[in-house]
Amino acid sequence: MARLLTLFVLLIVASGCSHLPFAGSSAEPVRTQERGVWLSKNEMLKPRAELEALLDKFQAANLNAVYVNIQLRGFTTIAGSETLPQWPEMAAHDAEIISWLVPAIQERGMRAEAWMEYGFYAYWTPDANEDESMGPILDAHPELISLDARGNKYLHNVNWGDFYSLCPTNPKSHEILIDIMDETMRIHPFDGLNLDRIRYTTDDHCFCPHCQELYLEEMGAPLELFERGTDNAARFNEWRKEQLHRFMEKLSARIRANHPGKPITAAVMPPYLVDEKAQDWYHWLEQGYLDAAMPMMYLPDLTAETRRLRERAGDGAMVVYGLDAERGQETLMRQLRQLEEIGVTGYALWYSGAVEPMLEDIGREIFTEPIASPLGGPRR
Ligand SMILES: [Zn+2]
Repeated sequence: MARLLTLFVLLIVASGCSHLPFAGSSAEPVRTQERGVWLSKNEMLKPRAELEALLDKFQAANLNAVYVNIQLRGFTTIAGSETLPQWPEMAAHDAEIISWLVPAIQERGMRAEAWMEYGFYAYWTPDANEDESMGPILDAHPELISLDARGNKYLHNVNWGDFYSLCPTNPKSHEILIDIMDETMRIHPFDGLNLDRIRYTTDDHCFCPHCQELYLEEMGAPLELFERGTDNAARFNEWRKEQLHRFMEKLSARIRANHPGKPITAAVMPPYLVDEKAQDWYHWLEQGYLDAAMPMMYLPDLTAETRRLRERAGDGAMVVYGLDAERGQETLMRQLRQLEEIGVTGYALWYSGAVEPMLEDIGREIFTEPIASPLGGPRR
């Protein structure tokens, strides 16, 4: 059966028909669906037996992918990296966690993707005024810091603390991030790479000296804080999107060359935020930089955004719907039923801790049978 399934998936790919879930008219329809969950740092800090029990629950609920948190707060959860120091909490808890976690996921018939949670974000600190560091990367390369139009060095969030970002424009930032991702895929046998925060912090980033210089050179006009809704603001935004396209093109080329057959997926903005973050992921899909986009549809009602998304991305696009379990079980189940009704490529559930108490019901009522992922990987 596994070989047959592989054959059908190959047929789908070979025929260029990406209109899932049903493939090919002459072959027996084979349904595939991505059913993944983001495994957060909190669950990764639990005792090994508890974490393994959680993997059992994922498997029992017929999930088929786990996105393992690798790059966070300026660190990595991997031991022995040459590109990033290991996250101190993980070093103290279980330094070798990734060595057993990846096979533990795969043995349960699920794909393990390396989730690069922070992307261009370079550091987190509860209070930047009390912390002299900007994180390992920016401390070594302070010229790569992303600045807003007023020269602020970090984004302050009243609930979560302070976030520093690398300049998403600078080719040197691109190189550093691509090296981290390439190394991650080399050290452990992940089934895929899951990007996150490949974007600008806000719509008034980045105003660092590199961006000012490059904008003047490429656009023939000085970079200013353009008023929202004006032609100048639109031009700036298109320019920012172009910078991220350049990053994605380079990243994709490196990962395809060094890790052939490993899909690249990305947590991305829902349609209404694509412009603010300059994250035109539709283009990344169209260019083949991405194998699947996971728009974070963290809304109480998905109807309007789902319509916009399908209009813009097209019916056959590899779109995996990011759903927010933190909105509660009733909402999540309603959204899953709604999307099952229209037929979608897959789901990515945010996040392991929030969804855990709902897994039994999800397995019983929605994901009633195991299913292979269209992104490949181990199959039952
Ligand atoms: Zn910049």
